[in-house]
Amino acid sequence: MTITFDQLGLSQPVLQALDLKGYSEPTPIQAQAIPPVLEGRDLMGIAQTGTGKTAAFMLPSIDRLRAADNQTPFKSCRMLVLAPTRELAGQIAQSAKDYGALAGLKVHSIVGGTSVNKDRNKLHRGTDILVATPGRLLDLIDQKAFRLDAVEVLVLDEADQMLDLGFIHALRKISELVPDDRQTLFFSATMPKQIQELVGKYCHDPVKVSVTPAATTAERIDQYLFMVQQDEKQALLELILSERHKVPGKFERVLIFTRTKHGADRVVKKLAQRGIPANAIHGNKSQPQRQRALDEFKRAKTPILIATDVAARGIDIPGVSHVINYELPNVPEQYVHRIGRTARAGADGVAIAFCAEDERAYLKDITRNTDAEFERLPLPDNFRAVVEGVGPTKPPAKQPRQRVSPKPKGGARGASGAAGGQGEGQQRKPKAKHPARKGRPQGAGAGAGGQGRPGGNRNRNRNRSGGGQNASRG
Ligand code: AMP
Repeated sequence: MTITFDQLGLSQPVLQALDLKGYSEPTPIQAQAIPPVLEGRDLMGIAQTGTGKTAAFMLPSIDRLRAADNQTPFKSCRMLVLAPTRELAGQIAQSAKDYGALAGLKVHSIVGGTSVNKDRNKLHRGTDILVATPGRLLDLIDQKAFRLDAVEVLVLDEADQMLDLGFIHALRKISELVPDDRQTLFFSATMPKQIQELVGKYCHDPVKVSVTPAATTAERIDQYLFMVQQDEKQALLELILSERHKVPGKFERVLIFTRTKHGADRVVKKLAQRGIPANAIHGNKSQPQRQRALDEFKRAKTPILIATDVAARGIDIPGVSHVINYELPNVPEQYVHRIGRTARAGADGVAIAFCAEDERAYLKDITRNTDAEFERLPLPDNFRAVVEGVGPTKPPAKQPRQRVSPKPKGGARGASGAAGGQGEGQQRKPKAKHPARKGRPQGAGAGAGGQGRPGGNRNRNRNRSGGGQNASRG
């Protein structure tokens, strides 16, 4: 039997706001988390972005704030949501505004990279819900422009990423400033020891909910692979983006991942030299630059965005038709997160991976640890000529198409390692050795030499279980 939002005990204004959003039923994390949070229990949720966790903590909290009906405190807030990145903070604040539209609660967000003075002014009269990155919040507290003594609900979102980004001291400090009797809702995609310690410090007898899926790629994403030399990737990208080399799917918005910030900038610069406008978002960009890039991407004014994992985490942009892995991620589950940026909210999506010789081990890691399944595409006929800038050359002889890395069922590993410890530009060496698996061609991951035709068989992933994921997962 499917559970409905009104069975969860939410109030009419919140239910109406959900109606306006067009959500018909709760996602698994919402169904599990909303009742205990409404009761006032602390919560520890293991869930990634895309599972609907923002609504899971926001909806019941809005109801609790309404019911308590305390005054909006001067220079303080009633609900504090801490988030690792500026983009995620912005998104959560927007959700709070949407969900709380009819609840009459004031919502603000403060993030680094913007004017502190403006933040000070806007928070002078206090707010009901504040979404903040930890650094900026502490700046204001240090300046005595904000206090945390009126906090009734504290949310830590993507706690593992906050640790990765070095916010541990900030979090400790904040934990000393909030009242002891507040409610704490703690979310993390992974539960390493340090996070468990934090949960122990922050939460009192928390209800534990988990919707961490197996590392399962969304079912509507077709995944393709080009084997290409590292120094030839730019040429391939240009050919694809200029559509001189057709790839499956119609371009709407193309999100391109690099492993490093410098890599992202380099791609943007080289595309610009070819007259292909693109923007980059990464940790070295100022907040206005990041916001502008995202806005232009959303409006499809500049529909090509180059991103690093850290900057892209948690970003929810509808209408991403293609994700291109210009460089493969060195953490397999990150591949799942990346390509999950497409095929959101019921749409189809295309993911294209560029794999160079020295990334074969990453590719193997991905195919062994996730359910990713690639169809290999041939390099364009004129590719050599384009790379060398000498005009058209003879097309290469046709070779039979071959699937890369067919995967034995049940091989997916839990996504608990997702992104753990991977800051921008950091590299994790692929594991040297994997236990040999039965029924799987050795070295097939990167080494299969077949070439295929673009848009041949639609590559539907077979593993649909996806434990607890809803259709709009990221
Ligand atoms: P989140 O994991 O909170 O980032 O949410 C991922 C996406 O799912 C967002 O675009 C939400 O607007 C959407 N969403 C959240 N809850 C629901 C729901 N119950 N039904 C449909 N979409 C939802």
